[in-house]
Amino acid sequence: MSYEGRMLHDLAMPGRERVEQALLRALLMHGGTLLEFGAGQEVVDELADDFGLNADQRTAFLQTVYRKENRAKKSLLWHRLLFRAADSLARDHLVSRPSRTFQLTGKREWMLTEDGFDQALRTCNIPRVRKNSLAVRSYDVQKIVRRLMESRRPVNYSPIDTERRVITTTREALLRIRGFRQAVIQAYSYRCAVCGLKIISPDRLSWEVEAAHIVPHFSMGRDDIWNGIALCHLHHWAFDVGWFSLRDDYAVEVSSRAGSLPKDYGRLGDYEFITALSRRPERILLPSDSEIHPHQNAIRWHRQNIFRRDEEQRV
Ligand SMILES: [Zn+2]
Repeated sequence: MSYEGRMLHDLAMPGRERVEQALLRALLMHGGTLLEFGAGQEVVDELADDFGLNADQRTAFLQTVYRKENRAKKSLLWHRLLFRAADSLARDHLVSRPSRTFQLTGKREWMLTEDGFDQALRTCNIPRVRKNSLAVRSYDVQKIVRRLMESRRPVNYSPIDTERRVITTTREALLRIRGFRQAVIQAYSYRCAVCGLKIISPDRLSWEVEAAHIVPHFSMGRDDIWNGIALCHLHHWAFDVGWFSLRDDYAVEVSSRAGSLPKDYGRLGDYEFITALSRRPERILLPSDSEIHPHQNAIRWHRQNIFRRDEEQRV
């Protein structure tokens, strides 16, 4: 038995597989990423608490002699065990290694892959249907997010993707939609562009905010950042049905039908939903980078095809 193996055995440390499962759970609960394991890191203690490790198990260290430099290096056995478990998950392609994630996010962190995400959901008994609404990042989706965020704003932009097939169930299409959602809510800092609402579920797994398509998906609207806007559930609905739209300068424009609404409609106690919308004088809350603001061509399409649809039909 190796020196490390003997120490693990003598101190009755938890087995590698159990640590791997615990890591997958921790990754899910921490939004898909964990920093490299080091001293003073909350998750290291959190996992030690989960396993009920005693003081000896937490503080035992391994001493390795570097022959070349003729010096001894000490490392905590517990950190070593966490590293080995994460390394093993990386070999199974369930997480990406910190060196690889660094190239994508600029942070040295372990990050779930799509396969790791699925495995973590199974481990936590969370149904896979919840996956799209979870505030969990994955390496594969982040790659798409980065591409969407870094593309240059086109001048002649068409928000409609004429080449897309109507029915797409491929893994690629699902990833593209998740990438769109993640990029949009991330760009708007997880808040509604109209009212600013920002809230997460008590288990910290899902954000309330949604990534709305300006040209809807069923009208072949593109899954890119210029056709997206982050909205709360209520404003998403109101935007989709045409209660409001946006002017070219991103100010809210409310439907002319607002005046004919019965008095008891659109009220949340003293708050009048439509009146509050019409009182927004300035532009909505947008990302600081203007390259990723909604494209005027997408907003115009919305004004002409959703917002003024009724008026045009009446003429
Ligand atoms: Zn809102």
